[in-house]
Amino acid sequence: MARDVTPEQTAARLRWSDSASRDTLQLIAEGVTQVAGFGIAAISVVRQDGGLESVAVAGSDEARAELEGTRSTEARLLEELAKADDWGLLRFVPHDRTDEGVGDTWGWVPDYEPIDAPDAWHPLDLLIAPLYDDDGALLGTLAMDLPVGGRRPDEAQRAVLNAYAEQAGRAVVVALEREALAEQVRMAEAARRIVRRASAQLSLDRIVSDSQDAVIEGFRAAGMWIHTFGRGEGDIGHIYSSDGQEIRLEPTLVRIAEQTAVQAWRQQQAVVIAPDRGFEPLTDQQAGAVLDFLRSIDVESLLFIPLGAGPECLGNLVLTRLAGAPAWTEAEATTALDIGHDLGRAILNARTFEREHQLVVELQELDAYKGQLIATVAHELKNPLSSVLGHLEILDGTPDLPGRTKGSLAAMERGAQRMVKVIDDLLLLSKVGDPDNPVISRPVDLRRVVDDVVDLVGLSAQQKRIDLRVEVPDEPVFAVGDPDELDRVCGNLLSNAVKYTPEGGVVTVSLAVADGEVVFTCHDMGIGMSADDVRHLGTEFFRSSNPIALAQPGTGLGLAIVRRIVARHDGRLEIDSELGRGSTFQVHLPAA
Ligand code: ADP
Repeated sequence: MARDVTPEQTAARLRWSDSASRDTLQLIAEGVTQVAGFGIAAISVVRQDGGLESVAVAGSDEARAELEGTRSTEARLLEELAKADDWGLLRFVPHDRTDEGVGDTWGWVPDYEPIDAPDAWHPLDLLIAPLYDDDGALLGTLAMDLPVGGRRPDEAQRAVLNAYAEQAGRAVVVALEREALAEQVRMAEAARRIVRRASAQLSLDRIVSDSQDAVIEGFRAAGMWIHTFGRGEGDIGHIYSSDGQEIRLEPTLVRIAEQTAVQAWRQQQAVVIAPDRGFEPLTDQQAGAVLDFLRSIDVESLLFIPLGAGPECLGNLVLTRLAGAPAWTEAEATTALDIGHDLGRAILNARTFEREHQLVVELQELDAYKGQLIATVAHELKNPLSSVLGHLEILDGTPDLPGRTKGSLAAMERGAQRMVKVIDDLLLLSKVGDPDNPVISRPVDLRRVVDDVVDLVGLSAQQKRIDLRVEVPDEPVFAVGDPDELDRVCGNLLSNAVKYTPEGGVVTVSLAVADGEVVFTCHDMGIGMSADDVRHLGTEFFRSSNPIALAQPGTGLGLAIVRRIVARHDGRLEIDSELGRGSTFQVHLPAA
């Protein structure tokens, strides 16, 4: 909300020592000196600790410097007042009844001789007006000393002084109220800051538990709850309440809360519901239902704050007060509305998070279903395919087959073998992608794995006259994992390197240990890949767009299998490739 003055500035302006309050009190004290004819006048106020602190002093600079900020106690004052003569609002204690040293507090004892007269003012005479509020509680004092002319005030002077005492009483009431208000604003502001910090969290339970103390204290509330509205017919939403409170709202009350919140959010206002107030925007009937409910939970009044974000109202915050607590103020309502904005955003965040979480769960379920589907289909294809291959083998043994038939049978067998490869890859892909089928790890010497795969691929390398170089340390290189799966990783990478390297090229496999990791590297100086191809590597069935690569047989499943196996071994795959220059695949695995 746009404001010209921040709440902190308001609080500072309202503080007791603020200039408006101080000026008023100072003017009254000066009136006493100038109009009523006293050398010194001082106004003190009762502090929270019961001390009386002098806050406005009129008179000589010397007197001001001496008296401003001095403190006394209420008990001492009452002691003196008990001995005083009653002069209307003023109390007079002649010097022969005052305590030694009392003048230090309520007057100033100058070095002067009383005049020689029966009504002469004595330096130790005490003239003071105790200032009370409407309930009779002591708020402060107006004290004066050093009458001009050196005499005790006559009737006319006393009347003027009484008038000043009355004004001083009212001014002190106003000043104290302003101070209380400033304190209240400060506390509510502190609560708002805590809610804002807590709102970064995603669960409303946490937001409520982390901010309830500050909010309850800051708003002098008895309790609080947050009601987030349901989404749809029959959904009454959720109530998050402060400790030790269980709030159950009848559907009628939920409806009233929703309607009121929506309207209050639109008007950007907090609503006070208390027995002795108007209930804008509630109807009398609605207010009656709410007040009945409040009585049932021993609460006298509540501050109802709509929560929302943008145009959308998402819930409400309720702060409660018990009987005897002060009325809700405008300043509290304004700060509470700011809290409504913070909490509104928090509700939106929590909902987005919940939705995302739900989506992730659904996607995971879908992925698991896809894995199962692939595995089932692959299994179902495997049996008839084995039968086809078996029959092809029988037919192949038939004597005197014509050449064309033999050629057809050979083509059928090649096709069937390709299908076997695809099916085996699909089965393996679904196995290594299944979270219910974790890796059974043990130390695996990768040198042996490399030996095996070099043996396996060696023949095709030879056929293409590829120089296959192997660089492994003399000692064993242990990784942790499943030996068959790691065999597949190294095998797939090496066979790709040979497959995608033209005749007469060079392929190097190497092993190294560094920083607790085992690194398997397969480097070739073959056809390489474009950056775009590299980005898509590891996606199921992805094959390069490069026609030279497409000319090689392949399923596009090899690297998807590699990626999944590496991931489930807590390793990582790094690919560096340049079209026409070659590729380097590096597998980093935790060392045993
Ligand atoms: P495929 O069965 O097609 O080889 P892969 O998943 O193993 O499937 O590889 C996916 C694609 O990545 C290949 O089609 C090929 O285009 C590209 N590729 C993989 N390894 C290399 C390599 N060493 N050099 C160049 N291209 C490669």
